[in-house]
Amino acid sequence: MADIDAVVAGAGIWGCVVARRLAEKGRKVLLIDKRSFIGGNVRCEIDDETNIEIHLYGSHIFHTKIPKVWEFANRFTSFNSYHHKVLAAYKGKMYFLPIGLALINKFFSREMGPQEAEEFMKDTGNQQALFDAFFRGYTSKQWGRAPEEIDSSIISRLPVRRNWNIDYFSDPWQGIPLEGYNEFFRRIVDHPLIMLKLDTSLVLEAGLFKAGGEILPRVPIYSSAPIDALFANKFGALPWRSLRFEQEKLPVRDWQGTSVVNYTEGDIPYTRIHEFKHYHPEDERAFNCPKTIIMREYPKSWQMGDEPYYPIDDASSRELVALYRKEKEKYPLLHIGGRLGAYKYFDMDRSIEAALDLDIE
Ligand code: UDP
Repeated sequence: MADIDAVVAGAGIWGCVVARRLAEKGRKVLLIDKRSFIGGNVRCEIDDETNIEIHLYGSHIFHTKIPKVWEFANRFTSFNSYHHKVLAAYKGKMYFLPIGLALINKFFSREMGPQEAEEFMKDTGNQQALFDAFFRGYTSKQWGRAPEEIDSSIISRLPVRRNWNIDYFSDPWQGIPLEGYNEFFRRIVDHPLIMLKLDTSLVLEAGLFKAGGEILPRVPIYSSAPIDALFANKFGALPWRSLRFEQEKLPVRDWQGTSVVNYTEGDIPYTRIHEFKHYHPEDERAFNCPKTIIMREYPKSWQMGDEPYYPIDDASSRELVALYRKEKEKYPLLHIGGRLGAYKYFDMDRSIEAALDLDIE
C-alpha cells in the first residue's frame, strides 16, 4: 500500500476510467469497490442456459455524440449496431416513443405530416392529452410525486420530434458492447499499474482516509462513493429514488418483440419491462433460444441500505449537496465524481466524459 500514487474509490464507469487514465500516466493506482465486482450499476450476468446478457440494474444502452468518449470506449470494445427504440403501452395499445409523428398520429387517429402536426400540437388540449397519457402516470410512479413537482430537466431528457424518427436517442453512436459490459469494464482496468481490491470501502475516520482497515498514504483520492456516506451523513442523508426488479425466464422465443416497453398508466405498478435478448440480435444462440428472460422494473422509495439509483434534485437536496461539497474542500487531496459522488444522474457517456476531463494529479 505504501508505494501507491493514487486511490480510486468506486469501480463504476467514472472510477474505472479515472483509474485507467492515472495508470496510463504512470501512476500506481489502488482501485477499490465496496461491492464484489466492478462496473457499478452497469453490471451484467450471462445466463448459462440461454447465453442472454442480463443487465442486473436495468437496461444500459451505450449512446453518445461526444467523439472523444466514443473513441475511448472503442479502445476497449467493439459495439454491435443496436439502436434503442422504446415502445409505450397505454390502454391496450402500443406506441413508439419518443413523442413524434408515429405516436401523435396513432394516438389521435390522424395521418399528419410535420407541418400539420406542428399546428395541431400548438393546441394546449392536445398537449395535455399526450402529457396525461405518456408522462403523468409514468412520472408519478417513477418519482413518487406528481410531474409538476419534478424538475423539468428530468422530463426534458425525452426528445419531442415532429418527424417519423423513432430512435429513442438522437446520438449518432449507439450500441451494446459485443462481448458484453463486464468484459468492457474488465479491459478498462486491465493494466499492470492498476491494483484492484473488491469488497473494500473508503472510510474517513478522525480526518484519516482508510480502506480495508488500513490508513491510506497521503496520495490523491478519486472517490465516487456517495458523498453523504463518505462524510458519515454528518449533515443528513441525501434522498434517492430506488428500484426493484423482478426477473422471469419464460418458455417462449420472444415475449414482447422488443427490448423495452414502458407502461405509462399510473395504476400498473411497474414502469417498464426489459427483454434482454433484443440487445444482442447478433448473438444467434441467445437470440434464437426457445427461452427468454424479462425483467419488470418497479420504482420504490429509498431507505438507508437500499440501492441508490436516481438522485432527487430539489431545494433541500441541493442545500445538502452544497454543505457536503464545502466539507470536501477541507480535503485538498480528495476529488469526487460519478453519479453517487456528484449526486447527479449521468448517462454512461457523460460519466466517461467527466472522467476524461478531470484534471488528474
Ligand atoms: N418519462 C415518462 N414516460 C415515459 C418515459 C419517460 O414520463 O414513457 C419521464 C420520466 O419522468 C422519466 C424521464 O422522462 O424519469 C426520463 O426518462 P428516461 O427514459 O431518460 O429515464 P431513464 O431511462 O434514465 O430511467
